[in-house]
Amino acid sequence: MKDRDDKFNDECGVVGVFNHPEASNITYLALHALQHRGQESAGIVSTDKERLYSHKGMGLVADIFGKEDFKQLPGNSAIGHVRYSTAGGSHIRNAQPFVVEYARGALAIAHNGNLVNAGHLRDELEAYGSIFQSDMDTEVIVHLIASSKENQLVDRLSSALSAVKGSYSLVVLTEKSLIAARDPFGIRPLQLGRLKDSWVVASETCAFDLMEADYVRDIEPGEIIRIDEDGVKSYKPFPEQKYSPCVFEFIYFARPDSNIFGSNVYEVRKNLGRELAKENNEEADLVIPVPDSGVGAAIGYAEASGIPFDMGFVRNHYVGRTFIEPKDAIRHFGVKLKLNPIKELIRGKRVVVVDDSIVRGTTSRKIIKMIRDAGAKEVHMRISSPPTISPCHLGIDTPTKGELIAANHSVEEINRFLSSDSLGYLSVEAMYRAVKDAGSSFCDACFTEKYPIEITEEKKLPQLVLFK
Ligand code: AMP
Repeated sequence: MKDRDDKFNDECGVVGVFNHPEASNITYLALHALQHRGQESAGIVSTDKERLYSHKGMGLVADIFGKEDFKQLPGNSAIGHVRYSTAGGSHIRNAQPFVVEYARGALAIAHNGNLVNAGHLRDELEAYGSIFQSDMDTEVIVHLIASSKENQLVDRLSSALSAVKGSYSLVVLTEKSLIAARDPFGIRPLQLGRLKDSWVVASETCAFDLMEADYVRDIEPGEIIRIDEDGVKSYKPFPEQKYSPCVFEFIYFARPDSNIFGSNVYEVRKNLGRELAKENNEEADLVIPVPDSGVGAAIGYAEASGIPFDMGFVRNHYVGRTFIEPKDAIRHFGVKLKLNPIKELIRGKRVVVVDDSIVRGTTSRKIIKMIRDAGAKEVHMRISSPPTISPCHLGIDTPTKGELIAANHSVEEINRFLSSDSLGYLSVEAMYRAVKDAGSSFCDACFTEKYPIEITEEKKLPQLVLFK
């Protein structure tokens, strides 16, 4: 098996700014707002209409960009990217935006999503002489653009995108234009905003808030927009597909202050919590969230159940997400590093603890132990999503099916593993009631195993193990 078969699923955030005197500064702010979508690497590419300038690095946005770097990022337009991949793919050559110079000029591309036929396309391209610089899916799109016979960039991009299968929300920068594209299933969010005389594009509206831009509209599924000096032009080159935005963006991934797919994430999380209480109520004295991901759902749960809500844990915000720590030894330590219970609040109480999802169960198990050690009389775990039974192949980083505890164990078995007094998940039907204002069709494959896009054999191969 070649290296690249160990595909890394990326979780990413993208941003684009067209025609702003401080384009790279604004992009930098937006990347801060999107930092939750990827903490492994970040980059900005800008243009002064003559050429492209790039600065990328490993780590957090605040650590990558210093004052001096912005002097090297001149011009009125820019794109940016934050990336989060699994251990092993952690390399500067995989940092985005990806910049190339080819026969027709220079272009930079930043991609959120995951292609399911990238390996196959890459083999074909290599057979025709393409030389790849990274092991990212995104580079396949670049080579397809470069080898397209079309004259206009939008046409070359659409012919490249017609060949790929999977999820993509992407931004492309050339010396003269900013292009944004969203896959025909609309799996990842991508939105258009206006900042005075400038156009901006971002994965989530929380980026617009920080830039002080106004949300204009979502980039539609299957839409390509081209922004240049003549304004915004929209293209719909692909056959229509069933709109399937990722429901897990609402459950966990997007920031609660963002509006995505037409709804506010926090409101949806509260709804998920309300539905959870209706389905899985428990006699208890206190509802506490696992911060931050469980907060909205726990408030909704408390509201619907009438059980008082409190912040039973203090979270140390200076530690990254424990899930992404690369080594097992660190990860075990990581939960304690990140969360500390308030013993005085918990002691002697029957506690309902709400989190958004269980992946392997290892974090939840430690959290439950912490609550017991803090003196809780009973600990009832409530999860504001259905059991995660299948990996995401479309852009959220999940371990293999074999490692997903709910793929291989019943709720009762998981409850025993966690050492909770009871465990309750949300049903798929109740999840749909909670997200109803955002529409009725979603990609819910992590809970149902029904993928909107056929997952090829290549992607069914074991993915890279997150933590060995
Ligand atoms: P565990 O108990 O080890 O399965 O971890 C569950 C925790 O992982 C929950 O707090 C979730 O919010 C979090 N989580 C779920 N999916 C992801 C993901 N794709 N990336 C990072 N954290 C996640």
